[in-house]
Amino acid sequence: MNDKIPDSGDAVVEAIGLRKSFGTLEVLKGMDLALSRGEVVALIGPSGSGKSTLIRCLNMMEMPSAGSIRFRGREIGRKFRDSGDKIGIGTLRRNVGMVFQHFNLFPHKTVLQNVTEGPIVVCKTPKAEAEELAKGLLAQVGLQDKHDAYPNHLSGGQKQRVAIARALAMQPEVLLLDEVTSALDPELVGEVLTVIRRLADDGMTMAIVTHEMAFAADVSDRVMFLDQGVIAAAGSAEEIIRQPTNERLANFVSRFNH
Ligand code: ADP
Ligand code: MG
Repeated sequence: MNDKIPDSGDAVVEAIGLRKSFGTLEVLKGMDLALSRGEVVALIGPSGSGKSTLIRCLNMMEMPSAGSIRFRGREIGRKFRDSGDKIGIGTLRRNVGMVFQHFNLFPHKTVLQNVTEGPIVVCKTPKAEAEELAKGLLAQVGLQDKHDAYPNHLSGGQKQRVAIARALAMQPEVLLLDEVTSALDPELVGEVLTVIRRLADDGMTMAIVTHEMAFAADVSDRVMFLDQGVIAAAGSAEEIIRQPTNERLANFVSRFNH
């Protein structure tokens, strides 16, 4: 947590009029979204609808073409230093963690080293302190016996739990999860969803891109349906997943078992 930035009320991360183009392809066509403290928002929608681009813009791994991203009410900019009403990308990224479909662990580092790397390198946390933090997080994701293992000796589910622990080691305010179970064998999905469910119960603010409809409905406070670069529908799990009225949405949701 970065306590240097005062609280600005409810919204932790906001996108305002967010647009993103790749060359002539406009992928995000004006999106407004706010994540409130402790809120879990599920982002669903067909492949290519812009889900990954949206959450990558939320921590500025992709630079928006137009519109703004705010963290606790402060505008973020590539060239901004932290000051007054603006903050820089580094501060945003330390506060907004991300977990990807393909884990992106460092293959030549042990599990413990993967988790301590961010705190030691980015936050200058002393090694012993970073290791203590990492061990606590690895216990939290059920990997207390894997400190010295290398990623290629782990199952996909274990790798993804390491990736979650690694993101948590930065003590982010918000976690962005992009299809974190999509690359897993079906029998390994549950152990990762259990960890995410526990984070939600502990009050972590999260945006979760997922095709696990039952899980999305169960874990989220709000669901957004992205379609062709816009938020085509947003509401409760009941309105969006369980009883959708919009025809395109109903067609999409009915393709998944839930
Ligand atoms: P989703 O995550 O919903 O599947 P994405 O955000 O990955 O969708 O992609 C939305 C659209 O943007 C797709 O048409 C995709 O091909 C395109 N796109 C994504 N990233 C890039 C990129 N770096 N360069 C060019 N096109 C991209
Ligand atoms: Mg995607």
